[in-house]
Amino acid sequence: MKATMLKSFFRPSAYDRASWETIEALQAKRLRVQVDTAYSKVRFWRELFDTAGIRPQEIATPEDLTKLPLTSKVQLVSRPLRDRLASDDRHLVRMFTSGTTGPPMHVYYSRGFALLTAMYLHDHFRRWFGLGRFYRIMQLSSHSPSSGTATAQRPRVRRSMKAGYAAVRPLIERFARMVYFENSISEAVPSIESFAPDVIMANASYLRLMARHFEESGRKIAFTPKILISTGEPLDEPTRDYVERTMGVPVRQMYGSNETGPLALECLEGRRLHTFSDRAIIEVLSVKSEKVRPGELGEIVVTEMTNQGMPLLRYRMQDVGYGHDSPGETCPCGRSLSLLLKSVEGRSIDCIRTRDGRLVTPKRVLTLMNAVDGGSSCQLVQRSPDAFTLRVLCRGVTSGSVTDLAQSLAEEIGQGSAISVSWEAADGEPKKTRKLRPVIVEPPSGPSSSR
Ligand SMILES: [Zn+2]
Repeated sequence: MKATMLKSFFRPSAYDRASWETIEALQAKRLRVQVDTAYSKVRFWRELFDTAGIRPQEIATPEDLTKLPLTSKVQLVSRPLRDRLASDDRHLVRMFTSGTTGPPMHVYYSRGFALLTAMYLHDHFRRWFGLGRFYRIMQLSSHSPSSGTATAQRPRVRRSMKAGYAAVRPLIERFARMVYFENSISEAVPSIESFAPDVIMANASYLRLMARHFEESGRKIAFTPKILISTGEPLDEPTRDYVERTMGVPVRQMYGSNETGPLALECLEGRRLHTFSDRAIIEVLSVKSEKVRPGELGEIVVTEMTNQGMPLLRYRMQDVGYGHDSPGETCPCGRSLSLLLKSVEGRSIDCIRTRDGRLVTPKRVLTLMNAVDGGSSCQLVQRSPDAFTLRVLCRGVTSGSVTDLAQSLAEEIGQGSAISVSWEAADGEPKKTRKLRPVIVEPPSGPSSSR
């Protein structure tokens, strides 16, 4: 383990071009360590193994994981904090309160995990996107009034670590910064322009707002970032095309979560999601919890192998995605980190189940919305199996585009579904500046119904 840890430390992207056999051997090694940690140090996992009648030694390779039941955030949160952590929380870094799906959960990282993850991403961005050694990176986020979202919080660390952080903070801030906006993206633009980052990370909808800001203001951005990375929401192709065209910068998607850290990243050359198979094992599962066939939609389940502070095994991400069409296929970029995920389609509770049993994913709805002018200010609400309301939340959207959108959505959902339009734009400030859930399903269909 020590040798692989050292390799990860000095050369985080060492496994990018490794053979699949090398990656499988590494996965088996890391998995055994993680399973041992989970069983010996975390009550939640020990009880789960014991209840299922499985000994930790039986989980020796990624294939053995199917012996374990799937786990969820709801299960973890139902237990006291100490039962989910591998050590006293004072020895861990509390990173986030993750609460965008389901109940809020404090997420803890081992100290090594937080540092190694930062180095891992830094090295991957640098090599994958052709950046210099000392590039600048900025994350764009909106303030959450309830502070319930992960991005609004700072890591909570011990006092001794705080002093260390304070000492290196000026150095870190030369290269990495967060920028927030409250009501309008224009609030963040001066900070972005003065920092002139090489990399901007933001939700796809914020990237769209930024692009629109520059398009509407009729002036060019004062610098050119090398890459825009979409995180947190599915990236639909109309949004990618629009932002790339308007900003003149490539947009690539990263997938991950607060609980698991980063899981997959699109490369520049192939626009494909490479999963970080050296850190996590990703499964795409059918409603029967079986691996989906290539190119099929399924629930994303993750076993993280490097955060030993809060191990997660077969953890349901509450997201759906397509498994890759052709497993074993190589990417033009030449990297071998596996292409297990073709695309990430959004949250399973936001999927619409049609009369004929298909799932229409949030990304599919976003793709249709963003294909019409002003569609990003709309929201589709499923009131009952056949009744939908298309809410229009911004003035300035023409009735023609709304009619087109309602028609394309009705065709997608099919089976004589009725879509009524509700014009709800406020008289004052148009509500176009904030992130919007594209789909709301009432009542939620729940992750178990995802397929
Ligand atoms: Zn690639």
